[in-house]
Amino acid sequence: MSITFLNKVTLSLSAKFTFSKSMDEKLWKKCIDFHGHVCPGLAFGYKASETAAEILRIPMEKAKDEEIVCISENDACGVDCIQYLLSCTVGKGNLLFRVTGKPVYTFFRRDSKKGIRLVVRDFNKDLYSREELIQHILDSPADDIFDISEPRFKLPEKARKFQSITCECCGESAREDKIRLQDGKKVCLDCFESYERSFL
Ligand SMILES: [Zn+2]
Ligand SMILES: [Zn+2]
Repeated sequence: MSITFLNKVTLSLSAKFTFSKSMDEKLWKKCIDFHGHVCPGLAFGYKASETAAEILRIPMEKAKDEEIVCISENDACGVDCIQYLLSCTVGKGNLLFRVTGKPVYTFFRRDSKKGIRLVVRDFNKDLYSREELIQHILDSPADDIFDISEPRFKLPEKARKFQSITCECCGESAREDKIRLQDGKKVCLDCFESYERSFL
């Protein structure tokens, strides 16, 4: 499972960093463009995507729609790499958040249902400068950066289609599972909450 990189070469895109030959520098640059800045969080996301792609045998940047599902336990910088590299998006329903605030990512292949759980290992980040830390994350073997194990939960079901219900209070329509009953009327969460607030 160890993904070891050898033969470091200088990255032309940024003189600050050097990368292994096996790392795709162009993809890393595209991730930086997508995210808007370079940061250690992005490097963790790159590494997580690369590791998931390697283990689940999905080509990065060419992942088909909904081929891979990611459940992220944080909503930080690294998620942007996962969106860009593995085509996991909120809109398609194959990027889900279960925000425990942990640096944990679970990935599944939809077809084989095979999955992995990646947990960023604790290490003393103070030993590195910001640039060195990014370099370290990108260059280290995957199992130096992550604890890699089986998922702790099952592959989530595909996005369901719901009926729309018109709120009897404000007239706006909403997915039926988000509608509440209030005084016998079907109301949206906005109207339901404003009713609850009136009791505070
Ligand atoms: Zn960032
Ligand atoms: Zn309403």
